[in-house]
Amino acid sequence: MTVAQYIQSSSIPSYLSKDNLGPWETYLQQVEDVTPWLDKELHPWIETLRRPKRILIVDVPIKLDNGTVSHYEGYRVQHNLSRGPGKGGIRYHPDVTLSEVMALSAWMSVKNAVVNVPYGGAKGGVRVNPKQLSMGELERLTRRYASEINILLGPDKDIPAPDVNTNEQVMAWIMDTYSMNQGRTSTGVVTGKPVSLGGSLGRHDATGRGVFVTARSAANKINIPIKDARVVIQGFGNVGEAAARIFVQNGAKVIAVQDETGSIYNPNGLDVAALRQHRAVHKSFKDFPGVEKIDNAQFWQLPCEFLIPAAVEGQITRDNAKTISARVVVEGANGPTTPEADRILQERGSLIVPDVLANAGGVTVSYFEWVQDISSFFWSEDEINARLERIMTEAFEGVWEVAQAKKLPLRTAAYVVACKRILAARALRGLYP
Ligand code: GLU
Repeated sequence: MTVAQYIQSSSIPSYLSKDNLGPWETYLQQVEDVTPWLDKELHPWIETLRRPKRILIVDVPIKLDNGTVSHYEGYRVQHNLSRGPGKGGIRYHPDVTLSEVMALSAWMSVKNAVVNVPYGGAKGGVRVNPKQLSMGELERLTRRYASEINILLGPDKDIPAPDVNTNEQVMAWIMDTYSMNQGRTSTGVVTGKPVSLGGSLGRHDATGRGVFVTARSAANKINIPIKDARVVIQGFGNVGEAAARIFVQNGAKVIAVQDETGSIYNPNGLDVAALRQHRAVHKSFKDFPGVEKIDNAQFWQLPCEFLIPAAVEGQITRDNAKTISARVVVEGANGPTTPEADRILQERGSLIVPDVLANAGGVTVSYFEWVQDISSFFWSEDEINARLERIMTEAFEGVWEVAQAKKLPLRTAAYVVACKRILAARALRGLYP
């Protein structure tokens, strides 16, 4: 069945408009692509991948500093819990929709299975522009949202983490809100916390580090040296900035970066450390010295070895994909490439390291954090980075092997690995009652 036929069928959940499924449609296409490669005995369970297990939509009213009350819509979606508790971040963004959170929760199920951490997939979000809130408003928003989704949370039920526009402080508030409701301190309910509150060393850079590790594995396969490789990065947040720094530490040149305020370019390589400082002060790349400003079209056209979309979904589309000539596209963001763009990039010969593999470093170290919290025994940063590197490298090799054996793109191969794990667990558990 094609995705179009599926959408026409009655099995699309009634809470989604058939005309506009948004990112959920991208995910459905990915399930469609993997289906022929899954063993026949798993086929009866595939429908469970197309249906989130549990969706919670909440109203988040908060008192603003000016005394008025403002309402925001929030979500927590548990896509699949067959392999363990729900795990996945919480994002604050004005464009958050249910379709987006559903897709992100499903991508967490797949991601957690690709790196084989014992979690199902979940995700949360609030439709808000946090940049327009004061610290006090942000705290009230976070605490009220955490209270509203409290019924789903718990260290053995559902464990949030940071995502777009959320950070260690937001995680600390969620941990505190949950703990106050429980009457005891429960650090394992959320990951990505400050180190002084049960957070893990290495968590901050973990997603960017994983992006680098998988990029290097991919580069080894097709004989691209990291030294002097040209790297182009969209997004300079938690993922993009750390990836940029680690690429540079390993001898590569970050020649261009883009954020919501524009794109900057220097063919000799940007000073990433200076850029980080500049951005912390000025909140944008504006007036950063020694660089050329380029427009969005020029940004995507830049010849480079590594292109790293590390912002939000749907950034590489049919239109800009035609102009991309990167040797390797490493998806630091979740869902940055539309299915059409994916096919165009493949035709143009780019190797795509898919999001569910490339950005799994974050949740991998979240898993380490959760294990450390539960056992109250903390590891050194070297130990964490070494374990992260091992898990990411093994996951990459496993996916690469499937891709070679079945002649599949890495994305479909990653889905083969992951969906087999999820559906095997689902089939073994069987239907209740
Ligand atoms: N938000 C991150 C992701 O999309 C991390 C999730 C987590 O650590 O649970 O993978």
